[in-house]
Amino acid sequence: KFRALWVEKTEDSFSVSVKELGLSDLPEGDVTIRVAYSSVNYKDGLACIPNGKIVRSYPFIPGIDLAGTVVDSKDSRFKEGDQVVITGYELGVAHFGGFSEYARVPADWVVPLPKGLSLKEAMAIGTAGFTAALSVQRLEDNGLNPERGPVIVTGATGGVGSTAVAMLAGLGYHVAASTGKASEHEYLHTLGAKEILGREEVTDTSRPLQKERWAGAVDPVGGKTLAYLLSTTKYGGSVAVSGLTGGTDLATTVFPFILRGVNLLGIDSVYCPMDVRLKLWERLASDLKPANLLDQIGYEISLEELPDTVGKILKGEVRGRTVVRLEA
Ligand code: NAP
Repeated sequence: KFRALWVEKTEDSFSVSVKELGLSDLPEGDVTIRVAYSSVNYKDGLACIPNGKIVRSYPFIPGIDLAGTVVDSKDSRFKEGDQVVITGYELGVAHFGGFSEYARVPADWVVPLPKGLSLKEAMAIGTAGFTAALSVQRLEDNGLNPERGPVIVTGATGGVGSTAVAMLAGLGYHVAASTGKASEHEYLHTLGAKEILGREEVTDTSRPLQKERWAGAVDPVGGKTLAYLLSTTKYGGSVAVSGLTGGTDLATTVFPFILRGVNLLGIDSVYCPMDVRLKLWERLASDLKPANLLDQIGYEISLEELPDTVGKILKGEVRGRTVVRLEA
């Protein structure tokens, strides 16, 4: 018997609670894992509300991230005792996820824990941190380096935002951070931000081209903020967009693209190819590993505290990364 977060939905009821299950309740898969930690991402918030439109069918165990130890493997690439990390694919969306003391998944989703990270650190990074890393990688692939000028991170106190600020500061960039939380400026300075912008400033879309300010941008917010970023990105710079907390519509013009050669880079962590994924986890354990990962960015909770916390993330009330402890 083991415990998991169980979400049930019927025509007239919806419930999120901790439930006892058996290994035979888990889906088919090659690799069975004793989960040590999971983490809370925006999508998990959606999985725990009635109309989140993220979970394929109920009853369900959410959790798009997990890190733990293999207890059984039918695939020769993994054996009992291996420490592994899984983010994305169908985990926590169409396949029982990481908010569970045990999980069973296809071997093709499994990433060996890189040397240089603990299971807990891997989950303090999680999908949000992986998305930040993929954003940084794609910006660099498109010519970004610290000499090109300041970079901006939006939604900076969130999961993608906090990890992106810390990664870029660690790489030697001059980092500007935008946030809607006036109370968290000191937190962002601790992570390495040199400048802080309020939400009004980064939603100013009054002109299609404004003064050139940013060599690059990591944007998990989208909406008006993305339109602002395109209008203020320097000649030849890039914007990596990963999220929609500020809205899904994008009202812009062709001018940033045709007059300044600005690149709009789409970031998807879910189906990121395995070769890129493995290289990024190696970087996450070395040059991209955020300083202050467990003492400032990561915040640990138990399975029992989860129903409360998943509700907060959709309101933008969570700071940094929430790590869920699943082993004693
Ligand atoms: P999170 O921890 O909740 O962070 C989101 C942050 O966005 C908030 O902390 C807040 O930061 C800001 N925000 C909230 N409401 C806003 C609003 N109305 N207008 C502007 N900013 C607002 O969530 P996360 O896990 O980092 O995910 C962030 C986004 O990225 C989500 O949309 C998520 O779906 C997406 N995402 C995409 C991928 C991918 O593969 N493409 C992967 C991971 C996440 P401030 O208060 O500091 O402004």
